[in-house]
Amino acid sequence: RPRVLSGIQPTADSFHLGNYLGAVRQYVALQETHEAFYFIADLHALTVTPKPDELRRRTRVAAAQLFGAGLDPDRAAVFAQSQVREHSELAWYLICQTGMGEAGRMTQFKDKSARYGESTASVGLFTYPILQAADILIYQADQVPVGVDQKQHLELSRDLAQRFNSRYGPTFKVPNPYILKEVEKIGDLQEPTAKMSKSSSSPQGILDLLEEPSALRKKVMRAVTDTGSEIVADEENKPGVTNLLRIHSAISGVGIPDLEARFAGQGYGALKKEIAEIVVETFGPIKERTEKLLADEAALDRMLAAGAARARAVAQETMEKVRDRLGLLPTS
Ligand code: ATP
Ligand code: MG
Repeated sequence: RPRVLSGIQPTADSFHLGNYLGAVRQYVALQETHEAFYFIADLHALTVTPKPDELRRRTRVAAAQLFGAGLDPDRAAVFAQSQVREHSELAWYLICQTGMGEAGRMTQFKDKSARYGESTASVGLFTYPILQAADILIYQADQVPVGVDQKQHLELSRDLAQRFNSRYGPTFKVPNPYILKEVEKIGDLQEPTAKMSKSSSSPQGILDLLEEPSALRKKVMRAVTDTGSEIVADEENKPGVTNLLRIHSAISGVGIPDLEARFAGQGYGALKKEIAEIVVETFGPIKERTEKLLADEAALDRMLAAGAARARAVAQETMEKVRDRLGLLPTS
């Protein structure tokens, strides 16, 4: 079975619709056909120095949402990134293989550091994509399901794998991004040309998985739309409606042309009302299962520990080889 690997950050109290459609839903589907490794990226979250209690809580909430969304601990290894320490170790080795200029071209760092202020942004935020390469390469992953915002980072992972292999001999599999065009970038409801984001969207622009139905409905009904009243997909002139049609289509499975035909002659309100209902229907059961899982923290922690043990076995196998290739002495 080919291997699939992906991670998601515990940087908010809930995942949002973009995370769900762009990533988590694919995680669940791929566990059927792939050997699957999914982690909560607590080491990545450290780049923005969260409060310890908040990080602990959000990591558990993230794990519960992954299981709540349908990940099966018997099929997928689900764990916290920090529980497999080899991620950090490999990150150092790869940092030493990365050029300053190469790292400096990462657009997500530019966006995020601009938000925190270039001089207050941590070095960790800068090296983040290299840790991400370590996350992927350590499991010899074939496929990495992500949204399109991660495409550049995936490219770096591929470059680092190839570079390491040519410098030190075949060691890493070169991973492929798994990006579904239709859901690669779900837009913010208030600013549809920007991606819906845990850390940069305002609460009004983001639909949280764990949100109350009444709040979800309100936000959908208040989503920004465009001039004119026609319901047609037109990225250039109608980014708001296009985003809404994409969301509807991704959840309902109805193609966009069929939706355009179905809503012809109706106003934006009709489309929004339907979206609000299908979002609530989709999120409701996930929220319920998530809350149930969070009620027994010890059991949840055991599920993560079991996932980490399986992941660690694979990571350690890779690391034995990596250390030897680099010329480091055996640890025992
Ligand atoms: P942050 O703002 O803290 O970076 P985020 O919302 O970008 O949070 P991540 O945890 O960084 O969420 O990303 C988890 C996964 O969700 C990644 O695969 C990412 O590509 C995907 N993703 C995030 N936002 C969207 C979106 N709006 N549309 C589609 N996929 C998305
Ligand atoms: Mg992100």
